[in-house]
Amino acid sequence: MAKYGLLIDYNWCTGCHSCEVACQMELGLPVGQYGIKLTELGPWEYAPGKWQLTYVPIPTDQCTLCDKRVAMGKIPSCVQHCQAKCMQYGPLEELSKLLLDHPKQVLYSLD
Ligand code: SF4
Ligand code: SF4
Repeated sequence: MAKYGLLIDYNWCTGCHSCEVACQMELGLPVGQYGIKLTELGPWEYAPGKWQLTYVPIPTDQCTLCDKRVAMGKIPSCVQHCQAKCMQYGPLEELSKLLLDHPKQVLYSLD
């Protein structure tokens, strides 16, 4: 049976926190707990005029890959609510091929 995961094209992540909030609502989590947590690197200047500022959301051990929503034929809540459309859900085999398209993507396997 195919294993599923999340592919995050973090080059386009704006750091909006929508995935965090959507996930907390979906899982009914208390304040301070997350199914996915946004991390922020920077800002710092590592060379004249060159800045590090990166946002990457990281699923936690509480992520269920939205099994209940998916069983109803929906996509995961975080994927649906990402305005930047930088998250995808699907079989790991298919998502892993997309890693070849361009850099600054991460693939999460949570099964
Ligand atoms: S797939 Fe569902 S449970 Fe996992 S991070 Fe996204 S919203 Fe949360
Ligand atoms: S909803 Fe999308 S753009 Fe916003 S923080 Fe999450 S991954 Fe980034």
